[in-house]
Amino acid sequence: MGNQTNNQSILEAYKKALRKNNFEVFIVENHEEASLLFFDQILPKINPGIISWGDSMTMHATGVIERIRENEAYAIIDTFDKTISREEQIERRRQALQSDLFITGTNAVTEKGQLVNLDMIGNRVTGITFGPKDVVLFIGKNKFVKNLDDAMTRIRTISAPLNMKRHPLFKAPCQVTGTCHDCCSPQRICNTWTITEKSYPKGRIKIILINEDLGL
Ligand code: SF4
Repeated sequence: MGNQTNNQSILEAYKKALRKNNFEVFIVENHEEASLLFFDQILPKINPGIISWGDSMTMHATGVIERIRENEAYAIIDTFDKTISREEQIERRRQALQSDLFITGTNAVTEKGQLVNLDMIGNRVTGITFGPKDVVLFIGKNKFVKNLDDAMTRIRTISAPLNMKRHPLFKAPCQVTGTCHDCCSPQRICNTWTITEKSYPKGRIKIILINEDLGL
């Protein structure tokens, strides 16, 4: 009970900081609640024509993409379709930047309410930054950090090396050592950093803070 109360006050503090930065913010207890909130409140309000998404284990944990895929009422741009070539996937990622709704996660959130991300191709950080009319981010409490330095340390020592392990066809030293070597691998997944200080326009980026450890 004590821990739960403590977690809730931490979640509320991050919510307050993010709202100050013009993000629309929701708090839920777990990934099932995150999915319910998304389908019951957020999606009907946005009423998007075309939906797309960037890679995010937290987003996948909520199951929202499977539900969207199953419902033929939603038009989607699936940029991860394994039946198409890599070139076609990249072309779809370009098209996804003109979708109405873009869904993904984030690598870290600071106490000042800044979102910090590191991307390989750039489609995820671009979608968060500009293009899609609305953005929804699913974020577990394990992504909370103190400041920008801690965000970058977290991403270099946790997110990126673990993410590389998810891609057995890619090769980089962090897959062996578990930490970043600032490598020159052709498959390096760490190419573009973004710091999202505020949502512009106000409320374009909607954030669901989840009281669970989710994703990398
Ligand atoms: S820069 Fe290279 S070594 Fe460092 S985390 Fe990224 S892929 Fe791994």
